Amino acid sequence: MAKINLNYRKLSAGYLFPEIARRTNSFIEQNPGTEVIRLGIGNTTEPLTSYVLEGLHKGVDLLSNVATYTGYGDGQGRLKLRELLVDLYAEYGVAIDTSEIFVSDGAKPDAGNIQSIFGIENEIAVQDPAYPVYVDTNVIAGRTGAFNPELGLYEGITYMPCTEENHFFPAPPDKKVDLIYLCNPNNPTGLTATKDQIKIFIDYARAHKSIIIYDAAYAAFIKDSDLPRSVYEIEGADKCCIEINSLSKSAGFTGVRLGWAIVPKNLVAEDTTPGEINKLWNRRQCTFFNGASNIIQQGGIYALSPQGLKESAEMVNYYMENATIIREALIQLGMTVFGGDNSPYIWLKIPNQMDSWEFFNKLLKETRVLGTPGSGFGPSGQGYFRLSAFGHREDVKTAIERIKRNLDI
Ligand SMILES: *Cc1c(COP(=O)(O)O)cnc(C)c1O
Repeated sequence: MAKINLNYRKLSAGYLFPEIARRTNSFIEQNPGTEVIRLGIGNTTEPLTSYVLEGLHKGVDLLSNVATYTGYGDGQGRLKLRELLVDLYAEYGVAIDTSEIFVSDGAKPDAGNIQSIFGIENEIAVQDPAYPVYVDTNVIAGRTGAFNPELGLYEGITYMPCTEENHFFPAPPDKKVDLIYLCNPNNPTGLTATKDQIKIFIDYARAHKSIIIYDAAYAAFIKDSDLPRSVYEIEGADKCCIEINSLSKSAGFTGVRLGWAIVPKNLVAEDTTPGEINKLWNRRQCTFFNGASNIIQQGGIYALSPQGLKESAEMVNYYMENATIIREALIQLGMTVFGGDNSPYIWLKIPNQMDSWEFFNKLLKETRVLGTPGSGFGPSGQGYFRLSAFGHREDVKTAIERIKRNLDI
């Protein structure tokens, strides 16, 4: 008799984004002809740059000819692509080797899959609020107890609250945990931790032989040169951190799909020698994954070349100008906002003690603007609201006009 993985039943009802879609669709049904502006899901909106397109076209053309055709490629990704990543990290002052890079189909799959190389008994800690993938994949793997709907959290996970009091960056847990997920710049709060703040976690991880899964999906949005673009800029990180990143947000690859994980040779768990975890991840990827598309990798090679990086920096600037427009308008309205200066997310403190979903409904009803309720990212997100800077400039401006004119606060 076939049986399902019962852990799926533990997942809390209504994953955030489907719930937003449900409410939005029902609003549009009740208000036909309404034009809703979506500053909700962090999805890119601007077309790929011309150089990346050239690379993608070239990727297709290479397959058309018997002399340049390729089938399955290197399981860790094209060497050229990994060499360009080595160059990128060198600009941050970080030395990594091509053998430590694993090209993938995105940061979300890597963030979800990485837990599978660690034992079921590992204790997990996450920032609260957090990108939902870290928690949900550990629920599915069976590392947690049940969801407690009253508290809005799972038994068996250590939540590290990120609140206004701690400037939205937590202290490490006061007990031993084994795997720690950090997202920096943070989604959803839009705040970016400093090297000193991350160093405290690295010291904790080394003292407890824990491993940090460091999601740097928004590193390219950092403007302040003192803030870390890679965790390996901080001493000791190569012994305790796996870094995950992708071209999704920085080069508009959300639908194209290309990411990478860095698993340093120096990384160790309690029961491994250096190099063993790198081999485990190789084994995992070679078993479950046959490599990123060769067409897309060619696009990635162009995206990571000097011309490609220059063009994506312009795209990042475009989104960051949106962030400034949103941020400043909300401040002018007297609202308290965080983030949006080194990341594309604005974390709004909801006025008048309203809860996150109440504000979602109010904003939709009064302004037809969509955002994301902070409580959907964890209990400490209650009372907050995330606005995304991914959108066409005209839409962002219209959204801001509507908020100024129609939001009754
Ligand atoms: C968007 C995002 C990603 C990117 O995922 P991809 O699979 O590369 O598209 C990863 N982590 C966070 C926190 C994100 O917001």
